[in-house]
Amino acid sequence: MPPRPLPQLTLALFKPDVCANPLLPPRILDAVRARDFDLVALRELLWARADAEQFYAEHRDRFFFERLCGYMTSGPFQALILSKPDAIKSWRALIGPTHPVRARLNSPDTLRALYGLTDTRNSFHGSDSEKTAWREIGFFFPEFDVDAWRATAGGK
Ligand code: UDP
Ligand code: MG
Repeated sequence: MPPRPLPQLTLALFKPDVCANPLLPPRILDAVRARDFDLVALRELLWARADAEQFYAEHRDRFFFERLCGYMTSGPFQALILSKPDAIKSWRALIGPTHPVRARLNSPDTLRALYGLTDTRNSFHGSDSEKTAWREIGFFFPEFDVDAWRATAGGK
């Protein structure tokens, strides 16, 4: 038998619009697990403005930056580390296009098509590369020990 591909880690966010309804995060997590993602870590948090500005620094000059920071500080949200072979691409595929209207037109089975409200309040985040995933996992889970994880569940 060929060896099973090693799982990869990605950083996901269930953004404040999703977490405003306490029924949604567990329901969505069930759907995510049904797609063979493993939940490695989960943390609920509430951002100050400076946190949002730091995390989204690459978008500082974009027209939506103010709106994005306002939204991401509007209420509690959840950060998750997910694992699966090819997790980074698979998670971005499952959440779908950035803009929910486009998602509903072109990718109606994606999570943003199902739950997204507006271009800003689009319910989910996913790391876009391995480098970004490491940075984002470290941002939300500074104590996460990837070697310990690889030596146990992640190496299987
Ligand atoms: N965003 C927005 N308007 C836009 C594009 C993006 O408000 O026209 C917000 C949206 O919440 C998005 C986030 O800014 O998720 C980061 O944008 P990016 O282009 O990185 O999209 P993502 O990687 O989240 O799909
Ligand atoms: Mg992005």
